[in-house]
Amino acid sequence: MRDVFVYSQHPIGTLEVDIDVIRHFDIKTPNYPLYPSIDYFIDAFDASVHANWADNRKIGGTRRPLSIYVHIPFCRSLCFYCKYNHIITNKKANIEKYTSFLLREIKLQEKLFQNDTSVEQIYFGGGTPSILNDDQLCRVMSGIYQHFSLTQNGECTIEVDPRFTKNDSISILREIGFNGITLSVQDFDSEVQKAVHRNQNEDDTLRIVHGAQQEKFKSINIDLVYGLPKQSIDKFDRTLEKIINARPNKISLVNYMHLPEKFKAQRHIKVKDLPSTETKLEIIRHAISQLTKDGYVHIGVNHFARHDDKLVVALQQGRLYRNFQGYSTHVDCDLIGLGVSAISSIGPTYSQNYCDLDQYYDKLKQNTLPIMRGLELTTDDLLRRLVMHMLMCNSLLSFESIETAFPIDFKHYFGTEMAELLEYEKSSLITLGDEEITVTPKGRLLICNICMVFDKYQRKHNERRIITNTI
Ligand code: SF4
Repeated sequence: MRDVFVYSQHPIGTLEVDIDVIRHFDIKTPNYPLYPSIDYFIDAFDASVHANWADNRKIGGTRRPLSIYVHIPFCRSLCFYCKYNHIITNKKANIEKYTSFLLREIKLQEKLFQNDTSVEQIYFGGGTPSILNDDQLCRVMSGIYQHFSLTQNGECTIEVDPRFTKNDSISILREIGFNGITLSVQDFDSEVQKAVHRNQNEDDTLRIVHGAQQEKFKSINIDLVYGLPKQSIDKFDRTLEKIINARPNKISLVNYMHLPEKFKAQRHIKVKDLPSTETKLEIIRHAISQLTKDGYVHIGVNHFARHDDKLVVALQQGRLYRNFQGYSTHVDCDLIGLGVSAISSIGPTYSQNYCDLDQYYDKLKQNTLPIMRGLELTTDDLLRRLVMHMLMCNSLLSFESIETAFPIDFKHYFGTEMAELLEYEKSSLITLGDEEITVTPKGRLLICNICMVFDKYQRKHNERRIITNTI
């Protein structure tokens, strides 16, 4: 008998978990926060190209709204599952120096966006953004607000580490202007925490969530990670139950990807401690069941939102967007990335700052934006990015909507992809109509696999097994 489970709290967020199908398609896929990926950025894209595209925003009538991402790379200790650009430090002088260079960078970016001040989203990510003290955070925010202003319904979010956040910091964050927080929890179990070198007291986490609720933060997001060493179904169930009881607006279930050859920190993790694929599948099935029962709706990829969250309304009304930070109700924005390794996206381009701190500082000392590399997307890149965006946000792709935006005959242009999609249709992950592709409740969990069919770069380089990502 097949193991098929249907979870439905909300008509639009229905998920069907077919264990055999997941096993069959459990290949390594990117998560597509951006397309094409940074692997295809080129060195010839420098600060002057970025400036030209920022200048182009002044031409013509409609501009995309702006958003700002601020990267704080510092962490106090190393988590063994880490895959982010981080620098371990406890030195106050390092953090102060970085703050002052961030302010220089803000001033340089400001010059490119004269009379272009309205921002829909500000996001502080890391690393550990809350490693900046209240005064440093306040100075960075003031630097941003000297030129830019957040729209009335704008979001201003910061990633907070509960291990090092005092109670009064939450009210100060609210005063500074933040209205959203993200907490990384992973798992409350002490054995798991020991195995990943992140000792995070459960009381500290819940204290921050309750504090943020009291301070009326509009959005509280919690990231849990499954597939960590020493993890079991029961342990993850217990963690999730406590998190659900705290009623955050959003919960993300992140699949731990063990790639020690790529991420040095992961070399500390013992392979023998990792849960089996079967255990991981059961963890995720239990989690979906628990979340659905307790009123959380699957938004897409690995994101769930409480049934009364605006993301659920946006999903229902077909107004959902996806950017580097996940799903959003804000339309596709041009993004200004600040800080070491940060990525910007202006018009049809991506660019990335230097990942090395000294190189980042050197460029800023020369009064030049610290852009290391980037990419001008081709028409084909933009077309494929839109296709993936529609599949990920609407679970529906109308050929006509693509043909209106691009001068192509969809079925002809994507002949190879349409043929490849037949395998997905056979497994009931999608339905292929004359006018559209619809992702089924069974396919929603494997949306990245479906999107990968449209990824020309993966096809070209035959690198189709890079990063594992079932959900
Ligand atoms: S997982 Fe986050 S907090 Fe931990 S080392 Fe990496 S960036 Fe720092």
